[in-house]
Order: sequence, then structure tokens, then C-alpha cells
Amino acid sequence: MIRNNWTKEEISAIYHRPLLDLIYEAATIHRNNNDYSEVQISSLISIKTGGCSEDCSYCPQAARYHTGVDVHALMQVNEVVEAAHKAKQGGASRLCLGAAWREVRNNRDFDRVLEMVKAVNAMNMEVCCTLGMLTYEQAEKLKEAGLYAYNHNVDTSEENYKNIITTRTYDDRLQTLHNVRKAKLTVCSGGIIGLGETIEDRIGMLNTLSNLSQHPESVPINALVPVKGTPLENQERVSVWDMVRMIATTRIIMPKTVVRLSAGRLEMTLPEQALCFMAGANSIFAGDKLLTTPNPAFNDDMEMFNILGLKARKAFKKEEQEIIS
Ligand code: SF4
Repeated sequence: MIRNNWTKEEISAIYHRPLLDLIYEAATIHRNNNDYSEVQISSLISIKTGGCSEDCSYCPQAARYHTGVDVHALMQVNEVVEAAHKAKQGGASRLCLGAAWREVRNNRDFDRVLEMVKAVNAMNMEVCCTLGMLTYEQAEKLKEAGLYAYNHNVDTSEENYKNIITTRTYDDRLQTLHNVRKAKLTVCSGGIIGLGETIEDRIGMLNTLSNLSQHPESVPINALVPVKGTPLENQERVSVWDMVRMIATTRIIMPKTVVRLSAGRLEMTLPEQALCFMAGANSIFAGDKLLTTPNPAFNDDMEMFNILGLKARKAFKKEEQEIIS
């Protein structure tokens, strides 16, 4: 049963269950709702890197922080197609194109992104974009070009948002998600743990996501990878148990959503990643770069899949949701 009326108290009670009970329930729900042996492999290309006007305190791409990120202008369409071929050969069924923009502008750069979307869609890959804030009209243009999903993370709870980002509001974030949904794109939205948030903030974030009129089709759960030069450079790493709790809670309250084990995976051992899959994670980012931080290479992941008996999910597998509110 899909519910979009979870209360914070209910989510908190799930999050705080004894760990083995939590994993067992999440694994059971995962098996009842999904093919647990299937894991979606997504690949991410940074099509425009650095120089962003926003102040997200975790992000090395913000122009105001001195992080040594290799700034580059918008890639050419043929470069993206070449990278997409490489990702597809590595087993990726979804390609996410990320640009370090505050928002999409109606200019030649956006026209070029539309061309990229058309070209990658023609390769029978799910194309996702993460380009910042988006109007409904822009979302429609992306949909017409063949975009499958739009990523726009809520990052943290509404209460904690101002401590992490001051150049836009939580409502701005939700408005873009609304525009994406209205254009009939699938929604990818999740967040980051390890920002210095409280457990209540994590629960608040999951409350927001699970109470959207339709659950996001994808929810990435990231562990902060602190980057030197950002305000969060000295933040302590979150433990793997916190990641497992977040993944399991997400799986229980959003049973059919694709839950992505995202940033921070490089720091996890194979048994730790296996626990995350057991707890309901069914998507990973693969390839050696996750925007600007290192990520495991395709070959390492294939070896892990072989050991764990996992297989790569095919593109365009529809998620069906029947909402009970
Ligand atoms: S997370 Fe995105 S919007 Fe925020 S600073 Fe980085 S690139 Fe810009």
C-alpha cells in the first residue's frame, strides 16, 4: 500500500526501531514490492562544472568557495553522446546530466541541453537532468525533447534548509518539483545526511518527500563527502548505520520508489553496501566521478553485482503507484 500521509511521529518510530528489525522489515517490503535482485545503474555527467552563484554549503561548485574545482563551460552535444556510449557499455540504463546552474534560462545553453537530451534519449537510455530551478514551460520543453526524469533534491528538512542554503528557499525547491510533476516527468528528489542536521531533520526530509502528492520515482540518499574549501569541510562522516537506517526507512514509507545509494558509496566496503541493498537500496551511481567527487568504477561494481547476485535493471521500467491517503 502506498501512503502519502505519513506523520513525523510514524516515520520517527520506524527510523528508531532496533536496527535488525528495521532492516528485516525494509527487506520484506522491498521483496513484496520490487524485484530485489535488480539494481538500477545510473551514470552522471557534469555537463557544466563550477562557477555556480548559489551558496549550498556542501557544494564544491559554488563560485564563492575556493575548492580547486576544474571549472568548465557547457559541454558540446557530441562530447555528451560519447560519454553516454561509455556509460551504456558499462551497464548504465540511466544518464543524469548535471549543470551547476541556479536555474535554467531560456537561452542557447538550454537549447543545447535539449539537443543533448534528444541525442541520449535516441540511445534508449533514460535521461535525467539536474539543472537547478525550472519553470513549468521549461519542464515541458525537456519532456518534449525526451527527458525521462528531473532531479531536484530537497537536501534536508524545511527547518534546517536555511542553515545549508540561503540563496533560495525550500518553497522554491518544492515549486520546481511541482512544475516537473505537472509536465509529467518522473521526479528524482532526495537529500544528504551528515550536514550537521538532527535526526528530526532527517525525518522531516523524509516526511516532505513521502507526503508529496505522488512519491518521487527516485529518492537518492547521499552521505556528505566533505570537500576542502566548503563551509562543511570539517564535518564528521556519517556512520554506515545511519545510511542503512535512512535507506530502510525510505524503503518502508515509499515502497515502490527507486532508492539510490548515492554520494559516499566510495567510502563503503562491499559488506556495507550489501547491507544497504538488503535494506532496500535498488539504485547506484556508477562511473568514476559523481559530479566532482570520486565514485567506484564500473568494473568494481560489476564484480560486486556478481558476488551479491544482483543484476542491472533495464531502462524505462515503469513504476506504478496507487496512492492511499
Ligand atoms: S548544489 Fe547545485 S545549486 Fe548548489 S552550489 Fe552546487 S551546483 Fe550550485
